[in-house]
Amino acid sequence: MISPPVPFIALREQEAAAVRVGFCPVVKHPALFHGEAIEPPDGPARFGQLNFQRQRLCVFSRLCQVCGRPIGGRGWTLDVETPDPLACLDCFPVAWEHCPGLHRQKAGFLIVETYRVTVEFLFAHQVAEQWNLEIPAGITHIAGKALMQAATLTRVVYAQGEELAARTVGA
Ligand SMILES: [Zn+2]
Repeated sequence: MISPPVPFIALREQEAAAVRVGFCPVVKHPALFHGEAIEPPDGPARFGQLNFQRQRLCVFSRLCQVCGRPIGGRGWTLDVETPDPLACLDCFPVAWEHCPGLHRQKAGFLIVETYRVTVEFLFAHQVAEQWNLEIPAGITHIAGKALMQAATLTRVVYAQGEELAARTVGA
């Protein structure tokens, strides 16, 4: 059996060292980091866990969380408010084939052009406190929650997984 493709934002084993707080150049704000990110991502993956750096990069640079390429028009997501970056429609069939979590998504999927993402998880002040992380000198405030640049949800389409997988194959 061929091993499943690894999503761009999945945490890699070698990156899973201690979580730290630092200044993120992507969001220009203090944020959580997973050790040192490997670029390009490589090595065994921890499926279901996100690399914080790549997660922010995807949200703020509008990259697909699966393939890491720019999302042109519409993308798909699981919910209206989510910490997950969009994924491109081209990646749905392979994600549907390999990700068991998607098959538990009984409500279907949202296809959107712009959407609202809570980035609470990205900044995660609460997480920093829970894990008792040291806040570097000079950082006096960590946002609890912020919204992505796009605050409106446009052209929302709900689709079931089978339908979406069939529709996007070769599209
Ligand atoms: Zn993609």
